[in-house]
Amino acid sequence: MAGNSPLVGVLALQGDVREHERVLDELGIEHSPVRTVDQLGEVNALIIPGGESGVIDKLTRIFDVRDALIDRIQGGLPVLGTCAGLIMLADRLTGGLVGQQTLGGLDVTVERNAFGSQVDSFETTIDMPPIGGAPIRSSFIRAPIVRDAGSAEIIATLPSGEIVGVRQGNIVGISFHPEVSNEVRVHEWWVRTVVTPALQ
Ligand code: GLN
Repeated sequence: MAGNSPLVGVLALQGDVREHERVLDELGIEHSPVRTVDQLGEVNALIIPGGESGVIDKLTRIFDVRDALIDRIQGGLPVLGTCAGLIMLADRLTGGLVGQQTLGGLDVTVERNAFGSQVDSFETTIDMPPIGGAPIRSSFIRAPIVRDAGSAEIIATLPSGEIVGVRQGNIVGISFHPEVSNEVRVHEWWVRTVVTPALQ
């Protein structure tokens, strides 16, 4: 932590790490890559990027960081997961690879690759009531859908009704990639309303 500003870790095992770092740079927020337990111990918050959740899952074991991640998430670490990151944070997963596990933290059921191969990727704008203002630009890339939000708060839905964003305490998970669409407001909101208050 630098003064009162948080140091945000970006889990850098696989996925769109650089895109998140670029958004944090644009917002003037300090960040560092997390691949080890020691690096995880230094950060005040964590972003789990998009990528391939089955690969990220395997790499958390290979890098021996899985148990520490679970401990810190359960201990209240502010976390933002995008796409595969949301999958990693779900307590329940459907459509996962054989043996695929999540870290958990969000009392939700997420379906992986829920838009099917016909609609692989698309860009759209969505309303996120907690953020307000103009609709959020977002890319959906082989994205998951939250099929059951459990006790989590729903913070983003598509016009067709699918749940694509949830928050539970300090954990936020979204199906899409604002960081791929040059959209900084989701990260700004998360740092201001979740990360910074958790530092007090
Ligand atoms: N389909 C990917 C997965 O299962 C997620 C895609 C993404 O993160 N853009 O992890």
